[in-house]
Amino acid sequence: MSKCIFCKIANGQMPAHIRYEDDELVAFDDINPKAPFHVLIVPKKHLKNLNDTAKIDQDLLGHLLLIAQKVAEEAKIADNGYKIVINNGKESGQLVDHLHLHLLGGKLLARMTV
Ligand code: AMP
Ligand code: ZN
Repeated sequence: MSKCIFCKIANGQMPAHIRYEDDELVAFDDINPKAPFHVLIVPKKHLKNLNDTAKIDQDLLGHLLLIAQKVAEEAKIADNGYKIVINNGKESGQLVDHLHLHLLGGKLLARMTV
């Protein structure tokens, strides 16, 4: 069984506040939000980060962005603007080694990093 926390959330073994789910991915609230609105968009396939992706993941990567847009629209933050961040590797500050996209919004984020 996987020890990866995002795999556990994706397969329902660990609780999370899920905003959206389909066969490919799950979107849930970050447990330690860095903005008033902070959702993680996580593929169900375990990929460590972008370095772990290839041509076969092209559709999945596009899907992550389109669902980020959908979640932002549903949360009514799309018009005011939001930030998308993907940390990759230790020098970026990536703490969870399962590819995920941060969707941040709800206040002025122009100078913010995650
Ligand atoms: P990163 O630094 O890009 O790897 O971001 C990992 C993010 O996962 C952080 O913002 C954490 O607050 C968040 N996180 C860690 N554990 C959980 C969890 N069980 N549920 C929701 N978010 C989590
Ligand atoms: Zn995983």
